[in-house]
Amino acid sequence: MRCALVSDRLDLRAFLGAELARIADRIEVVDHFAAEPVADIRLAVAWNPPRDAFERYPNLQAVCSIGAGVDGILACPSLRPGIDVVRVVDPVQAQTMAGFIAWHVIGHQRSFATYRDQQRDRIWRSLRQRSAQSVPVGILGYGEMGRTVATHLALLGFPVMAWSRTAKSAVSPVRVFHGREGLGAMLGETEVLVNLLPLTSETQGLLNRDLFDRMRRGGYLVQVGRGEHLVEDHLLGALENGQLSGAALDVFVDEPLPPAHPFWGHPGIVVTPHDACDASAGAVADTIVATADAIQKGERPPHTVDRERGY
Ligand code: NDP
Repeated sequence: MRCALVSDRLDLRAFLGAELARIADRIEVVDHFAAEPVADIRLAVAWNPPRDAFERYPNLQAVCSIGAGVDGILACPSLRPGIDVVRVVDPVQAQTMAGFIAWHVIGHQRSFATYRDQQRDRIWRSLRQRSAQSVPVGILGYGEMGRTVATHLALLGFPVMAWSRTAKSAVSPVRVFHGREGLGAMLGETEVLVNLLPLTSETQGLLNRDLFDRMRRGGYLVQVGRGEHLVEDHLLGALENGQLSGAALDVFVDEPLPPAHPFWGHPGIVVTPHDACDASAGAVADTIVATADAIQKGERPPHTVDRERGY
């Protein structure tokens, strides 16, 4: 099956690399901007597609993301109703995310930033050692990523809570909350808040002053969802007034983060360049093949998102 590669920010051919040869007997890729006939194209892979991208493919049936998130594809105005949007579910990616989150949670628990400052000033001074058990972590989102992160943090000894849209059955040792009331209950006990929500109309702007105020004073934010979840000025205000003691930010409204942005130089903020964890090229290639198979059988591809719900 022919498959269009659609992105104006990322070289998808380079990203998929050797995986293209591995799946070449099933998938022939076509560059979006190449002057080739496209009437037979039913499948595309996309990341930050141009606004008019999908107009070019009158017979498109499915679009695969190259990651867990699909917000950039769903927001594309040329995505017609009825086109399936497929995300990548990669357990190795979730495990990499768990390591990334653990780095920041332990960094807060053990005051890594203070050790770094002390080293810079050649100061030998022991710091108070806090147990993991004394640092409750609340995770926004209890899906593929959130569940893996929760399991890893619980193994490290942190009291872990998580929040989802729909109710979940009890899965000790993680306490799971849902709905608006559940969010309030979780925040009241949360010292480190980890955002692993998808970006939807319901979750946009959720990380705001009101939410920070409901956390334990001196709390810490680990923001790996999407930039639009965070009201940036409210974060700066919460750091200024001490409601939050710090934040690790991996995703931003403007990516790359502009050089003049105040987050870069803020002493309480750690910036990483949307690098928490990528899906592997192998997992993306497997997703493409599984989606092509489903199209050929007239079935719904695995990991098709609910376009109404937004994730
Ligand atoms: P999933 O779809 O598996 O899980 C999403 C979770 O969020 C579910 O638990 C869902 O609840 C919950 N949720 C959605 N909407 C709401 C809402 N309105 N209120 C409460 N809970 C809600 O997604 P993943 O775990 O695979 O990925 C989550 C996000 O992580 C991605 O969309 C992406 O934005 C981000 N991400 C970032 C990466 C990075 O490198 N920075 C890498 C990978 C992912 P329910 O269970 O009830 O459906």
